This record gives sequence, structure tokens and C-alpha cells, in this order.
Amino acid sequence: MGFNIVLSSPSGAGKTTITKKISQKYPNIKISISHTTRKPRPNEIDGVDYHFVSNNEFEKLIKKNNFYEHAKIFDNYYGTSKNSVNKLHEENYDVIFDIDWQGTKQLSKYKELNLIKIFILPPNKKELKKRLINRNQDNNQTVEKRLKQFENDVLHWFDYDYVVINNDLESCFSQIEKIIEGHKKEKMSFI
Ligand code: 5GP
Repeated sequence: MGFNIVLSSPSGAGKTTITKKISQKYPNIKISISHTTRKPRPNEIDGVDYHFVSNNEFEKLIKKNNFYEHAKIFDNYYGTSKNSVNKLHEENYDVIFDIDWQGTKQLSKYKELNLIKIFILPPNKKELKKRLINRNQDNNQTVEKRLKQFENDVLHWFDYDYVVINNDLESCFSQIEKIIEGHKKEKMSFI
């Protein structure tokens, strides 16, 4: 295994788009598909965007110690299944995790994952609100909840190796590419 990447950000900072772009550009990096009890959004597919499960199922998986990490976010559970990540590693893929700061803290305990932890921030709160409204996936109440959550999420930048501002998607992506390329080179020089 080379290294694995964690991308975290307050909701609406553009992380999901960037995660997808990374896995398209680097065929050796696969996205970890989380389990969640959140209801699917209209454009989301079970088994592709998330494994959508009931509260009951999720709690059973916690009891069985099936998760590397799990957290409750906006009243829903989210978690990273050990089985699916281990399977990707057995197939020699590196993995990118689109998870929050609580999950990152838990995942950091697994030193063997060689995590590169990247935190993405929107340029400012006004722009974040605009993006949350424009993506048209959530009702007003949810948008307000996510904005409030931002204040708390942002405090956790300190737990990450890199902080990247997503002012413009392409330049944010190119900064992340540089981070990945830098780590690749570092790995090569050890061989
Ligand atoms: P959304 O509901 O917008 O898809 O995701 C809400 C938040 O949950 C995002 O910050 C996302 O990164 C986080 N998230 C998604 N999957 C996981 C996971 O498996 N574990 C943790 N801890 N957070 C996750």
C-alpha cells in the first residue's frame, strides 16, 4: 500500500466533486463508499454514493465492530466499513475517504493507513451559503443547519496536514494534485 487520502470540509465546500475528480484522474485511487442512515438525495444511487441503511442495521454494524470509524452528523449516522476498505487494499488500490473531522480523528489511529489529511475550506461564509442554496439538494432548514455547523467544523483544520481553499474548483484541484504528486515522489525516493 502507498498512502490513503482523507478529504474533509464543512458541508458545501466542494469536497465531493473534488473527490470524484481525484478518483477519475488517478485510477489507482478508489473512493471509500460510506454507510449512512441519511435518506438518499434524488441524484444518489445506493452502493455508488453511499450504502443507505436503516438505523437498526447501522447500530448492528457498530456492535459487530464493522467500522473503522463512525460518527453522527446532522442526526444521521455515517461510517467507513472495514470490509470494503480492506478489500480495496487487497486489490492494491489506495483509498480516498470523504469523511468529517470526527471520522478523521478515529481513522488517524490506524497508522498503517499512511493518511494524507486534507481540509478544504470555502473562501468565506457568504459563498458557502450561495453554494448550499445553489446545489438545491436541501431545504432551507437544512441549509441553515449546515451553515451553523460550519462554525464548529472549521475549528478542526488544525488536525489536518494541509488546508486548501476552494475559491475556484480547478485551482483547488490542482493544489491537491500537487500534494498527491509530492507524496508519490517521496514514496518513490524510499524505494
Ligand atoms: P452528506 O450528507 O452531505 O453526503 O455528508 C455530510 C458529511 O458527512 C460530510 O462532511 C461527509 O464528509 C461526511 N461523511 C460522509 N461519509 C462519512 C463517513 O463514513 N464517516 C464520517 N465520519 N463522515 C462521513
